[in-house]
Amino acid sequence: MIQFKTRTLTIFESALFRTTSGLYTGNGALVLVDPTWLPDEVAAIRHYLDDLTGKQGLHLIFTHSDYDHIIGDGAFPEAKTVASRAFTESADKAEQVRLIREFDEKYYLDRHYPVGYPEIDFVIDEDEQFLAAGEARLSFWLAPGHNPDGILTLIEPDGILFAGDYLSDAEFPFVYHSFRAYRETLVKIDILVRSGRVRVLIPGHGSVCTATEEMQKRLSAAHAYLDTLEDCLLNNKPFPEQQLWSDYKYKAGQQEYHEKNIELFRREFGL
Ligand SMILES: [Zn+2]
Repeated sequence: MIQFKTRTLTIFESALFRTTSGLYTGNGALVLVDPTWLPDEVAAIRHYLDDLTGKQGLHLIFTHSDYDHIIGDGAFPEAKTVASRAFTESADKAEQVRLIREFDEKYYLDRHYPVGYPEIDFVIDEDEQFLAAGEARLSFWLAPGHNPDGILTLIEPDGILFAGDYLSDAEFPFVYHSFRAYRETLVKIDILVRSGRVRVLIPGHGSVCTATEEMQKRLSAAHAYLDTLEDCLLNNKPFPEQQLWSDYKYKAGQQEYHEKNIELFRREFGL
């Protein structure tokens, strides 16, 4: 379904995990971000794109390499792809493709396009690297922490920030890679939000956000979760789980990520 639409931006929301796919069509640019999930949903995005008139060269951006975000790649073979250096050098490529195949096999899904790990044309090595697409400017920041190979993408002049799996209103921080890096990425987002350059923020899962106060609220919520986790683990206190599950309602789907966060925190800080 379409969750959010303006003259230049369409955000599709999957039936699964509130995962978002973005399409930007302003300023002579055509930019697709993380087209995803069920075969019919990817096909709907493909058809939506095919129906656009006056098509320009397509850029396809991957916010990170988790399999739910790369699963649609093969349906857009004409695209110039963008992702981080860590994405192209990931040791986890085969595992992400295996997870796609396992998911499809488990739910009897057939995809009418090839499934594989994306080949990347434009590699992001550093913060504020940019790319011109028509009259639009795409700027990128490295965003590790959730996983090792995330990027933030800011489309200007519109002020559209694709945050990948940060600042969701549906999920507390899922930290698969590093707590220290996760905090650093939150700081980068905070600086961007404070600069006034961000007018629309799109998380990889959950609702688009257009108010600066709401962006700041999500930043505070992410820090608050991490602060509580840190305090409980460093000081041997029980984590207030009841509060967590009143703030985040998808407990059955998310409990394991909270437990994995605890495991990773203990490893990362040698507890
Ligand atoms: Zn995700």
